[in-house]
Amino acid sequence: MYTTEILPGLDPKEPLIISGPCSAETEEQVMETARRLAGFGVKVFRAGIWKPRTKPGGFEGVGAEGLPWLRRVKEETGMYVSTEVATRAHVEAALEAGIDLLWIGARTAANPFAMQEIADALRDAGEKGDVPVFVKNPVNPDLELWIGAIQRIQNAGVKRVGAIHRGFSVYGKHLYRNMPQWHIPYELGRRMPGIPIICDPSHIGGKRELIMPLSQQAYDMGFDGLIIESHCDPDCAWSDKAQQITPEVLNLIVNALVPLRGAKADSTESLTLLRQEIDQLDNDLIEVLNKRMRVCREIGQYKKEHGMKVVQGARYGDIMKSRCDLAAEMGMSPEFMRRVLASIHEESVRQQLEIFKKESDEK
Ligand code: PEP
Ligand code: MN
Repeated sequence: MYTTEILPGLDPKEPLIISGPCSAETEEQVMETARRLAGFGVKVFRAGIWKPRTKPGGFEGVGAEGLPWLRRVKEETGMYVSTEVATRAHVEAALEAGIDLLWIGARTAANPFAMQEIADALRDAGEKGDVPVFVKNPVNPDLELWIGAIQRIQNAGVKRVGAIHRGFSVYGKHLYRNMPQWHIPYELGRRMPGIPIICDPSHIGGKRELIMPLSQQAYDMGFDGLIIESHCDPDCAWSDKAQQITPEVLNLIVNALVPLRGAKADSTESLTLLRQEIDQLDNDLIEVLNKRMRVCREIGQYKKEHGMKVVQGARYGDIMKSRCDLAAEMGMSPEFMRRVLASIHEESVRQQLEIFKKESDEK
């Protein structure tokens, strides 16, 4: 639980829900999405006005032209409005337009120069700069960098500072767009007690169907709220369309979530931590198995090209013996290890046979 009121009327004991499209695209899209969200009781609207894209050529946001649309959202729906800032000019324009809450994106949070520029702009804005500011975790899993980014904003005199956990990027294709690595935001909460930490399941999951389970996990771990991307017509969104949901689905999800009731007892807390570690280890295990299968497929390709059989008996025997001995040394039953290896081997053979089969299909 956090201690400072973020905005009047938002109860620190209730989960903070921020929702809205990844990007403000047109005035109609912004207003339509906002009206529907407000109808479901959402109190803080989000929309990216300036979009940091990984590669040039993507939709980079409508820019300052969209700020009056957010003002209209505020006036017509009564919701608070929020957007991402990455430079001094963004901060000045957003404050001038009366944006109620600012957040700093993951790419910006990874850059101390940019963070300092934003902090200076907030300080220079005086009274006007006294808005809540949420700092997303940097793209790389570096807790100190995240803490440093938050401290720069705090040192500028901003009193209402929060954090957003949006996962950490890794190379290659994975279940999640950004790995949750839950222990990092958990540790942030321990190091900076009292600041609100909310979860962004949209950018962690990268897919609609992962939003609900990730949100529940965030609640179970005691996060203070959620920021979820919602669009009036997600399939036509100009950015991040695979992860955006309609306001109606957002409402269903928020209402289906079971909040963590009451203060967390110590035992619950350590159980949560241990479970989170298990989740992480299982993910690592699956990642390692995936890498192993990839190498097996390469071996399959080699065997195919050299006219060798898929299963080489002697090699299989060696693998079994050395791995079972190692497991036994670590206190695991060799029989258990034999079963695990037999299963892995079965899947490797299946994948190699697919490669051989491809050859015969091609003939
Ligand atoms: C966003 O919130 O739309 C965004 C760009 O997120 P992130 O900085 O987490 O990638
Ligand atoms: Mn987005």
